[in-house]
Amino acid sequence: MSNEWEVLISAEALQRRVRELGEAISRDYAGREPLLVGILRGAWVFLADLVRCISIPIRCDFMGVSSYGPQTESQGLVRITSDLSEPVTGQDLLVVEDIVDTGLTIDYLLRNLSARRPRTLKICTLLNKPDRRRVEIPLDYVGFNIPSCFVIGYGLDYNQHHRELPFIATLPPSALSVSPPG
Ligand code: 5GP
Repeated sequence: MSNEWEVLISAEALQRRVRELGEAISRDYAGREPLLVGILRGAWVFLADLVRCISIPIRCDFMGVSSYGPQTESQGLVRITSDLSEPVTGQDLLVVEDIVDTGLTIDYLLRNLSARRPRTLKICTLLNKPDRRRVEIPLDYVGFNIPSCFVIGYGLDYNQHHRELPFIATLPPSALSVSPPG
């Protein structure tokens, strides 16, 4: 695969927007101590930068999820591969996602988490693909709305690769691997 990446969002633009999100979260949660729930594995790079732009006390926990189905397409069948380390009843939860595409994954997570009776439950996603939505989701913080293309970098992978790129790039359909029949 060529390393001539089609950069969609530069490292500088990411840092600028993450700072703005951190400032907004600090303002909105002033006087409280939200629990940021990072969704593994895609959101950890974003979360690591985001927490350093937040100026109020916070705590962090993680959930691992994996969706069944073809590699670049969510089917809405979500499996929790690792759960939060503590109960979250009565807490201010802020779910931190890398990308909301069809919305099926975050819809499942929201239903799962709200059953644990947090005080508040909000979503912060770095990327949003509004054109692909199959279920309406209230997104409280959005870094960037992007078109319906497959993106990598800044924590997002293709087959576990490219998470380390400091920018968001598009992966052309021709770069997606195909297997011969049989
Ligand atoms: P949804 O359930 O909203 O369709 O998909 C959410 C999950 O699909 C994301 O958390 C991410 O793991 C994966 N995903 C959706 N679109 C992309 C994309 O453009 N690039 C990458 N790397 N993953 C994506």
